[in-house]
Amino acid sequence: PARKFVVGNWKMHGNLAALPVLGAIDAAARETPAVDVGVAVPATLITAAWQTANAIHVGAQDIHPADKGAHTGCLSAPMVKDAGAAFTIVGHSECRAGRQESDDEVRGKAEAARRHGLSVILCVGEPLEVREAGQAEAVVRAQLENCLPADADGAWLSVAYEPIWAIGTGRSATQDDIAAMHAVLRETCRAALGPAGDGVRLLYGGSVTPANAAEILATPNVDGVLVGGASLTAETFLPIIAHA
Ligand code: 13P
Repeated sequence: PARKFVVGNWKMHGNLAALPVLGAIDAAARETPAVDVGVAVPATLITAAWQTANAIHVGAQDIHPADKGAHTGCLSAPMVKDAGAAFTIVGHSECRAGRQESDDEVRGKAEAARRHGLSVILCVGEPLEVREAGQAEAVVRAQLENCLPADADGAWLSVAYEPIWAIGTGRSATQDDIAAMHAVLRETCRAALGPAGDGVRLLYGGSVTPANAAEILATPNVDGVLVGGASLTAETFLPIIAHA
């Protein structure tokens, strides 16, 4: 894919007082029209974010696979779409672990998003013990195979590789490890989707900072980054956008 995608995931951070940060990110996005910039904000901020920042893609961090129902505390794809979201993350390891979410549910969420016109960032990634056992590529390949909707394509789907041990630890994966895993992701997308698999953007996430972003973004088969902590301030997120 030609265009890089730089996405912030604010997780459970930010309130209305953070709108000026989105304004600064929006201004940077306007100055770098060759890069797609997104921020997955807390759901409470989707509408305000969308009204404030229209050069960036505003997203949700998770959705429920059903359109409506007795699911206290959950939000559906049509709800976040109505609030102004253009995309949603699904399958983040923090959601998978917190709610014992299965790959089938994650696929269901991606399909629901697609039905309602949301783009999707589908997250996969292995825990440390799996990497140490030399099983990372096999486990992540299976995870992606199980989560990938049958007719997906790059017009609406991105896949983010986020090794769990690299999230919020300050220890990003090495460029070699990222390159090896992203080759596996590309191969898996191609095998499942045919030529459409080439168009799926593959993002890396896990302790991306202004210091390592340029190298990560220059890695083969890395079409963007999914940034947690460093996306919370303009001082740290804008330099990452500038490296894309
Ligand atoms: P950090 O960038 O804070 O490691 O978080 C990565 C992440 O989980 C993005 O979804």
